[in-house]
Amino acid sequence: MSLTRPDLDALPAYVPGRSVPGAIKLASNEVPYGPLPGVVEAVTSAISGVHRYPDLAAVELRGRLAARLGIDPERVATGCGSVALFEHLFRVTCLPGDEAIYAWRSFEAYPIIAATTAATSVRVPNTTVHGHDLDAMAAAITDRTRLVIVCNPNNPTGTAVRKAELDAFIDRVPADVIVALDEAYREFVTDPAVPDGLVEYGDRPNVVVLRTLSKAWGLAGLRIGYLVGSPEVAGAVRKVVTPFSTSLAAQAAALAALDAEAEMRRRVDLVVAERARVVEAVRKVFPDVPDTQANFFWLPIGEQALDFAAQCERAGVIVRAFQGDGVRVTLGTPEENDAFLGAL
Ligand SMILES: *Cc1c(COP(=O)(O)O)cnc(C)c1O
Repeated sequence: MSLTRPDLDALPAYVPGRSVPGAIKLASNEVPYGPLPGVVEAVTSAISGVHRYPDLAAVELRGRLAARLGIDPERVATGCGSVALFEHLFRVTCLPGDEAIYAWRSFEAYPIIAATTAATSVRVPNTTVHGHDLDAMAAAITDRTRLVIVCNPNNPTGTAVRKAELDAFIDRVPADVIVALDEAYREFVTDPAVPDGLVEYGDRPNVVVLRTLSKAWGLAGLRIGYLVGSPEVAGAVRKVVTPFSTSLAAQAAALAALDAEAEMRRRVDLVVAERARVVEAVRKVFPDVPDTQANFFWLPIGEQALDFAAQCERAGVIVRAFQGDGVRVTLGTPEENDAFLGAL
């Protein structure tokens, strides 16, 4: 007898990047430069009000995000990380048996969320160069499909789909199927051919864009992400959000971080400069590293992944292995990246 759903036995658990005392952590796609200026002060002063509930609707924060993006706040939902918003999106789109399509390998949270929301996962294998196969994803749409996720750039491979191919793909998706663009790494994109989902497709009612303050904005530990969609879709997501899950500290920190956009950009530029340097060096050993538009890169080393990660750890560098597929390495400071290159 099982007290919980037996089908969950087959579900892989989310594997967080490991933190090992004293080691360099290049395993969770965090930016290495600490909280943005003003964030610690904002959180510290918010703490004196923690006996009160936060603003349920996160009105001020949604207003700030909307103003920054030039859209109506009714189109924004905030949540406890964009992972939570994905869960809500699945819940507002998929009934049991409905299908959610995503690329594989992609973000490891998707299959977990799909399984726990009773959606049926339809995984479409990546191309031989580790990017989304948008033709195959469009071909996989059936009359049960409710949701198609495009992770752009893709975690963990770093690859990005460009505007021409995404245009063609979105045109093929029926109007009653939602396309969710996961843009967790949007701030690191430098290729002008990689579209900003909001700018290019924001006027389409069946497109939603999910972003996070965990990565470029340095707030991974406070858990805050946002979703932008039509007022109907964003409103449905706000309805099912766990009440008060955008915490008081998270709202205060997010407002302070958004005030520090210039510093965020400066830090992102440092990471992007390192990306070019490090990937070039890594390709001398692994020529097949795909081009990356994110703050990490992918070593497609298949069965060697676990062994490679273990050897890096012995050299004091923690990377993220995906058994049988490859290794994802986050870009850190120049010194941290040099430590990785030394281990390599
Ligand atoms: C990190 C990440 C997210 C968001 O993470 P949160 O911390 O929950 O906001 C979403 N999608 C992808 C692909 C990611 O890598």
